[in-house]
Amino acid sequence: MDTITTMKKVKQQLHEAGFKLTPQREATLLVLLENEKDHLSAEEVFFFVKRKSPEIGLATVYRTLEILTELHVVDKVNFNDGVSRYDLRKEGAQHFHHHLLCIECGNIEEIEEDLLGDVEEIVESKYHFIVKDHRLTFHGICQNCQKK
Ligand SMILES: [Zn+2]
Ligand SMILES: [Zn+2]
Repeated sequence: MDTITTMKKVKQQLHEAGFKLTPQREATLLVLLENEKDHLSAEEVFFFVKRKSPEIGLATVYRTLEILTELHVVDKVNFNDGVSRYDLRKEGAQHFHHHLLCIECGNIEEIEEDLLGDVEEIVESKYHFIVKDHRLTFHGICQNCQKK
């Protein structure tokens, strides 16, 4: 899905939820789209947005990220460093994608496949818990670090 299509879709979502896509919010969303593979913190998003819209404040970026989280456009993730990071939800994804976190270099890779279908069935039948989503991060050593 390209940037313009995603932008249109999010605009529609915001509109339906009663929010407007102001230029500042649009700039924030654009930064997230341009750094889709990364897991940016609010401060990092702010840093990039400021280059495009120097007048923007950190509070606006925070608020926009909160709204986008509420609308499930992005997911808030925490890895080892205690910093909240924002991750674009993949188009059509039922569940949050999984992560591979390298304990040597800190690199984060994403797993697209939802591997937890069986696990969820067990949780639902045995623990009578209705699963809505899950977070899964594998901690280990990435291919690059294995070579060293
Ligand atoms: Zn991710
Ligand atoms: Zn590594």
